[in-house]
Amino acid sequence: MTTAGSPSNHGDDRIVTGTSMNEEREVEAALRPRNLSEFVGQHRVRDQLSLVLEAAKLRGATADHILLSGPPGLGKTTLSMIVAEEMNAPLRISSGPAIQHSGDLAAILSSLTEGEVLFLDEIHRMSRPAEEMLYMAMEDFRVDIVVGKGAGATSIPLELPHFTIVGATTRAGLLPGPLRDRFGFTGHLDFYSTQELEMVLRRSAVMLDMKLTTEAFTEIASRSRGTPRIANRLLRRVRDWALVNQLDDVDAQAAAAALDMYEVDSKGLDRLDRSVLDALCTKFHGGPVGLSTLAIAVGEEIETVETVAEPYLVREGFLGRTPRGRIAMPAAWEHLGLVPPEDASAQGLWSLIPDDSTALAKTSQQNEARDAYGHQENLDGILYFDDRD
Ligand code: ADP
Repeated sequence: MTTAGSPSNHGDDRIVTGTSMNEEREVEAALRPRNLSEFVGQHRVRDQLSLVLEAAKLRGATADHILLSGPPGLGKTTLSMIVAEEMNAPLRISSGPAIQHSGDLAAILSSLTEGEVLFLDEIHRMSRPAEEMLYMAMEDFRVDIVVGKGAGATSIPLELPHFTIVGATTRAGLLPGPLRDRFGFTGHLDFYSTQELEMVLRRSAVMLDMKLTTEAFTEIASRSRGTPRIANRLLRRVRDWALVNQLDDVDAQAAAAALDMYEVDSKGLDRLDRSVLDALCTKFHGGPVGLSTLAIAVGEEIETVETVAEPYLVREGFLGRTPRGRIAMPAAWEHLGLVPPEDASAQGLWSLIPDDSTALAKTSQQNEARDAYGHQENLDGILYFDDRD
């Protein structure tokens, strides 16, 4: 857990991070839904994907290449496994950062078998030469292997078996157009509702042999930031707490007590989130304050505040980004049990922030886009103003 004055490793060790922690890969694997009918929520993507796979099976062909985008922990890897399972095909897993040379990609592609599903996580982080090789492979199932260097270099064409790429990205806007165009199906995963997370939790509780009341599921789900990975992680923390406190049945009070102990509050905010909001409200009277000043005030790196804490705070309407700096929104004051001072200059800026920042996050997927005011979207697809001071 991050403490003020000790910069974190970009927040990956936070209990509420959407990215997976090293030690949880195994337990996550056990909790993954194995087919589309077990996959909770994301109805549109699920239905469309089901159609794509069904049609491919009827044609007796491999499925079109599939691109899945969305924040970490929403089920992209799980869906890639389901694609392989439904197509009754083997699955190969790799990722953009692991493919730095076109030779790395050539080695993977040339060893694929007919119909195999290749999952490429963080596909936006692949090197440019590898990406260009992938274009041809995806379209023509062929790669040109270059042998030798300089004037003596020759390229040897290599035919590949038909395969399906399932690409996953948290940054759809960073994918070059030509790569995006080569996917026959693109699905965007959105954050889950509390009810959907309750369903995820119910399923996991059965597998973990835990007994919880309906209210306990709601309590955990509402602290899970719309993310199944976080929901499952919080559930495991509640299990530890129940074990140590010798509780067989977990009710809402027990779940709340356990998560309070881990400093995840009723809105899913952890210590870092709360210290950002607290500094904003108490030290800077609600802002506006520049990002670097805010980061210093909470003893964190600028990047940690910007990429780890802010996206969720903006999405949930606690924090606003304006041309003059970060401001605390009414929800922040309310959540901290504080009353905004009448003369807070941030109040004049509240009206500039759209009411529905969630809708904003959903609609803005082109990172390069600028609106009429020259506002630019950041990598999380959230409208922001660069006010680094
Ligand atoms: P991503 O690849 O998007 O980071 P994962 O597919 O690895 O996310 O999912 C993280 C965890 O969350 C998995 O262990 C899985 O059990 C759970 N999970 C994700 N989506 C769902 C879902 N729709 N239904 C049930 N569990 C899910």
